[in-house]
Amino acid sequence: MSPKQKKWLARIVVALVLFVGVMIFTHFAPLEEWLGSRQAAVWAEFALFLIPYLIAGYDVLWEAARNIGRGQVFDENFLMSIATIGAFAMVLFPDSDPHMAEGAAVMLFYQVGELFQSYAVGKSRKSISDMMDIAPEFATIERDGVLEEVDPDEVPVGSIIVVKPGERIPLDGTIIEGASQLDTAALTGESIPRDVEPGSDVISGCVNLSGVIRVKTSKPYGESTVARILELVENAAEKKARTENFITRFARYYTPIVTGAALLIAVVPPLAGMGTWSDWVLRGLTFLVVSCPCALVISVPLSFFGGIGGASKLGILVKGSNYLELLSKVDTVVFDKTGTLTSGTFDVVAIHPETGIDPQWLLSHAAHAEAFSNHPIAVSLREAYKGEIDPKRVLDAQEQSGHGVRAVVNERVVLVGNDKLMAQHGAAWQDCDVTGTVLHVCVDGEYAGHIVIADIVKPDAKRTISQLHDAGVKQCVMLTGDRLDVAKAVGKDLGMDDVRAQLLPQDKVSAVEELLAKQAEDGKLAFVGDGINDAPVLTRADVGIAMGAMGSDAAIEAADIVLMDDKPSNISKAILIARHTMRIVWQNIVFALGVKIAILILAAVGIANMWLAVFGDVGVAVLAILNAMRAMNVSKYRD
Ligand code: ADP
Ligand code: MG
Repeated sequence: MSPKQKKWLARIVVALVLFVGVMIFTHFAPLEEWLGSRQAAVWAEFALFLIPYLIAGYDVLWEAARNIGRGQVFDENFLMSIATIGAFAMVLFPDSDPHMAEGAAVMLFYQVGELFQSYAVGKSRKSISDMMDIAPEFATIERDGVLEEVDPDEVPVGSIIVVKPGERIPLDGTIIEGASQLDTAALTGESIPRDVEPGSDVISGCVNLSGVIRVKTSKPYGESTVARILELVENAAEKKARTENFITRFARYYTPIVTGAALLIAVVPPLAGMGTWSDWVLRGLTFLVVSCPCALVISVPLSFFGGIGGASKLGILVKGSNYLELLSKVDTVVFDKTGTLTSGTFDVVAIHPETGIDPQWLLSHAAHAEAFSNHPIAVSLREAYKGEIDPKRVLDAQEQSGHGVRAVVNERVVLVGNDKLMAQHGAAWQDCDVTGTVLHVCVDGEYAGHIVIADIVKPDAKRTISQLHDAGVKQCVMLTGDRLDVAKAVGKDLGMDDVRAQLLPQDKVSAVEELLAKQAEDGKLAFVGDGINDAPVLTRADVGIAMGAMGSDAAIEAADIVLMDDKPSNISKAILIARHTMRIVWQNIVFALGVKIAILILAAVGIANMWLAVFGDVGVAVLAILNAMRAMNVSKYRD
């Protein structure tokens, strides 16, 4: 509890003790006898109950007055002030029993509910920031052989930082010395440590477990993974779900309407001669107490907040409540193939040079042409080429998404890519009947042969598709720029409902648009990609999901939901978490409204009194908040 909340609690406890004391005292003490008249006794009680009332509620009264001064009349403070002042004012009706006790009790329990809310919100905030406790406090740089701790913000790109075992990596970079294991759990929810060695890229926010490593930083702190994740989670609260906006709007109309209704109840029937004033005024006041919409107003955003926070524990970053809501309605999931369903690390299956060309020469030129690309194909070719790549030998490298690359290597123009690329440059090519991705290589306009590569399907890809089907997703579709035979083989293996091949990035957009047009009224379409040349599709889909985002700026930027690691199974987890959250949201809405409407009706017909109203109100709020906090618990979705 914060110091402010502690003071608040102390105040409530004092007021509560006094309140109970006054209750007992007024019940047993023969006030009427002591003071000589019934009237005097009532006023004495009035004064006594006023003490706990003011201790508990002076700030509410003050806020209400201030808000009226500002022209914002209908808020909770106003409702509570009117209802309680009204209850005390019942003393002016000589024909009714006094209701000061109710007035004080309403204020007291209202405050108990408010304190609980503030505690719950604070707690879930804190648990998100704990979980997001990935911000590094310092970076250690080496200056003239001396280690120095500095603010991560002050470390220029390209500096060498030293990270000791047990420390958090402060900035993104590449290891230049030392091998170790990294704990990535805070970012990905993955508990198995990752082995790293010189040359490995490391991400800020991971904890170095075993050895001292030296890292050459590749980004300033503000662009490092940690800073981006923190920013993303902080901004998530601003993108409100439709349900959330609906509740806010609802509260805006609901409060004045109920206030109006309370006024009518208090005034119309007695004017029509249907009963005593005091009876109807009391019903109106009870109405006001129930009308407080706090249970909804707080529990709905809290549920979303919990769902977003819970998901981030598993390395699933949701950019806003609205995406969580959309995700829960997804019935079509469209996947990119390379890097998303398949590992993206291709093995060379065959090298078929034209006659007179050395296979190693072919591979070397292809690998050099790919020197500057970060496409999985390029990375794999460089890997397969084992030799050193000298970037100075590569000039004018251009990448054409969905086609391949063109570069000048050793003063020769080299093209590496698929038949579309060859056709575009008017080069001849030979077909190949080995199943796999065929990379044609053309050097100075002459066809030099092709390299066939193949990647493997990720181990949990198949399980993911069947989990999605089990969860009621109607259609899983795979889109790829790769060849049809490869696509068909992979699609069949995984149990895809539909497969489309040889698509350029813009074709993927039209494929998604076509699927969107066929979409059922309230079904939503999610696209899952790795963020490499699929940003346009990520934005076009109802929900764009990027995976393997550790360190990929493009993906983090374009996607609505970011999966830190590259396991497809996180997609089904994300959908299940989204649905779980939405279930909780609706439970709260239905439950809170249901109880309120019931008490409102009972109050109008005179069955519910103020006691029931205040307990009903605070009880609903507390239960709804406790329910909302369940959204944060995602342990059952862990592997
Ligand atoms: P996917 O849809 O499977 O993710 P892409 O759209 O990234 O595939 O690429 C489609 C095809 O374009 C690849 O199968 C390959 O033939 C060719 N291609 C794309 N980028 C490159 C590259 N850097 N080098 C060679 N070929 C490439
Ligand atoms: Mg791709």
